[in-house]
Order: sequence, then structure tokens, then C-alpha cells
Amino acid sequence: MIQEQADETNRASFQNHSVSDGDAREPIDRSVADRHLLRVCAVLAHELRNPLSVIQGSADLMNPETKADARLQRTLRKQVERMTHLVNDLLDMSRSTNGKTQLRREPVDLKVIVESVVQSMSSTLRGHCQSLETVIAEHPCWINADPHRVSQVLINLLSNASKYSNEGGEIRLQISPQRDQIEIRVIDQGIGIEPDLLPDIFQFFAQSKSQDSLEHRDGGLGIGLGLVKSLVEMHDGSVQAFSDGPGRGSEFVVRFPACEAFDRSFDGSCESDSQPQRSYRVLVVDDRRDNELVLKALVRKIGAHETRSAHNGSAALVAIEVFTPDIVLLDLGLPDMSGLELAREVRKIEACRETFLVALTGYDDQEMREAAASSGIDLYRLKPVSMDMLKEVFRHPKLVSRGGVSG
Ligand code: ADP
Repeated sequence: MIQEQADETNRASFQNHSVSDGDAREPIDRSVADRHLLRVCAVLAHELRNPLSVIQGSADLMNPETKADARLQRTLRKQVERMTHLVNDLLDMSRSTNGKTQLRREPVDLKVIVESVVQSMSSTLRGHCQSLETVIAEHPCWINADPHRVSQVLINLLSNASKYSNEGGEIRLQISPQRDQIEIRVIDQGIGIEPDLLPDIFQFFAQSKSQDSLEHRDGGLGIGLGLVKSLVEMHDGSVQAFSDGPGRGSEFVVRFPACEAFDRSFDGSCESDSQPQRSYRVLVVDDRRDNELVLKALVRKIGAHETRSAHNGSAALVAIEVFTPDIVLLDLGLPDMSGLELAREVRKIEACRETFLVALTGYDDQEMREAAASSGIDLYRLKPVSMDMLKEVFRHPKLVSRGGVSG
């Protein structure tokens, strides 16, 4: 299916860019081009997530005994994180230009989001010996927002503040209510922004041309701020950039409309550090051998779990009959049937009504998530799969409350 999509995309983009008689080019229809871009990005993201998953899992499986190995493990994890970020940004950009970004808004306490963002940024900042000072008002800071998208906005701004500051630089994050708005300021003392870039800085692909900035680019695509603006505006907010020029630092100000406090706070991570308690029978269904091997090894490492694997849907159904798994870790793009069809077949088996079906996939697509849920899949997680992600799966309240089918 992915190959078909790619073929179709190749054909379509070739037609779009073909040259007619003389030097007159056929005009490219922007919306058609945007749709193709969305498809290409979706295919690319899917194809990259699989190898990333293998690298992430392998890094998690390393047992570093020397300082050099521990450093290698950290480097691998950092590179996977950076590539995953790029893949996500690409996909988000194409969604945004196609008006396909979806928000799941709810009243959230911005302070709770900030806490988890600061935590997730800590290793990046530590890696550059940079400090982050957070100044958060005492007053409530509730907004009606999609917590994950707001985290994305903050992470993009803080990542830039770090990327465009020198080693040892100081970054400041301020959160304060201003009348009917909540204001976020991200301030750095880094390389600053040239006056001619400032007005266009929120356009996709706008980047500084200066050599100094290029040294700091760190492989960026010029997408992050475009996404920040699009996400903030989808929340009826605004974003502005200020800088007194090169070498004089930068300041980004985001404003979201405030909302009434709600008595349930957003829990950015439902994880606890405890190991999963009981052992489960786990079936790994993935047609990519490397993914399968790494997944099985990860599952065994986080607990004494019995594992089996299958490389296609029909082999999975045979394995399920004899093995009766508690958990199936399921890739959705199988050679003989889709993971969704397989899930529906599994649900027809009496002994597997309670089996915990987890899609581990490279498809980051809302329709696919919904189709997965209606096919009986309990959890949908995006590759790359990490040890932490699997631990969260094994502690999931839905799985724990079912208690497994085999024990
Ligand atoms: P990227 O960082 O991947 O190039 P962004 O869209 O996040 O893409 O940023 C666009 C450009 O804006 C950057 O290339 C950089 O020139 C400039 N920029 C963004 N944030 C800062 C900052 N905090 N300090 C200096 N320049 C910045």
C-alpha cells in the first residue's frame, strides 16, 4: 500500500513538473502540489520510522559497561530523537499547509505542560551546558488547548533558543497571565536575528543566511517556527519575535486566550518508574526482521515475558490459536493482510476477546487511528519504539485491569 502511494505520488509529481512545448511550463496547481507533498511526507515518515525504531531499540538494549559505551548509547538516543523530531516536523508542516492539523482541546493548566517540557529539554540543555530559568506566575494559567500541540510550540521555541545560543548560554522562560490572556516569553542571549529576517521568520523555510547562523543550524529544516505560528493561531493565539540584531539575543512572545480553571489537571505523563508487575505472553507481528528481533529483545528485557513472533497476518493467526497471547504488538503494514484486518480476525476468536492489541506503526494518521480503534485495537503508538514506550504499554491501566488472558 505504501509502495502504491509512492508510485502514485511519483507519477503525479512527474506530471506536475513536466515541461510542455517551448519553454512554457504548465502552471503547478498549489493545492495539488500540497496534497502530493502531504503524501510524500507521510510515506517518508513511515519509511524512516521503521529504521529509527530499530536504532532506538538497539540503543535501549545496550548495557554500557564503560564510559565510552554509555556515551555512545546517549549519542544514538540523541540522534534518533533529532531525526524523529525532523520527521514529525515535516509531516506536521505538510498537514498544516493542507489544513489537516487536528486539535484535541481541553482546559489545561499551562504550568503542568511547562513542567513536562522543561523536563524533556533538560538533557539537551545539559549537553550544551546551558541554563534555563523558569519564571512562572503564582496565578492560575489555564488555557483551552491541545496539550501536546502546546508542548510542541514550547519545545520548538526552547530548542531554537538553545540551538542559536552559545555553549553555557542562559535561557529564560516566563509564564504570566495578562488580562484575558496567558503570555509565554522565551528569551535567549544568543546570536540574535538580522532585521531583514525578522518580518518573515514565521514563514516555512525562512532561515538566516549569515555564516554565523549556519554554524548554529544543526541540521534544521526551517520548519519549526512556521509550525509554531500555525499551531498558536489554531488556538486563537498570537506569536511575535523580537531581536535587537545579530549577537544581541532573541525573544519570542506567545499569547493564548485564558480560560476558566478546571478541576482536572492535564497529566503530561501517565508514567511511573516502576517495572511492569506480572509477566505476559506477547506476540510480535512485524514483517521486518530487524524490527521483530529488537522488539522481542526489548520485551524480554523489561520482564520475564514469553514471546513469539509472526511475519504476516496468516502466520499470526496460527500463532494466536496455539499461543493465546495476552498482548499482540502489531505492525499495521503486513504483506498478506493489513494489521486492521488481522485485529478484526483476532477479535472473532473467543479466547482473544480480552487480548491487548497494540499497533506499533509508522503511520501517523488520524483516520488510521480511528480505523484502528474501530477494528478492536486498544492502543496506537508511533515508531520509533523505545524501552520507555514499551514499559508504558505494559503498565497500561486497560491491560492491567484485564489481567491477561493466559494467567
Ligand atoms: P530551523 O531552526 O530549523 O532553521 P525554524 O523555523 O525553527 O527553523 O527557525 C527559522 C530561522 O529563524 C532559523 O534558521 C534561524 O535563522 C532563526 N531563529 C529561530 N529562532 C532563533 C533564535 N532563538 N535565535 C536566533 N535565530 C533564530
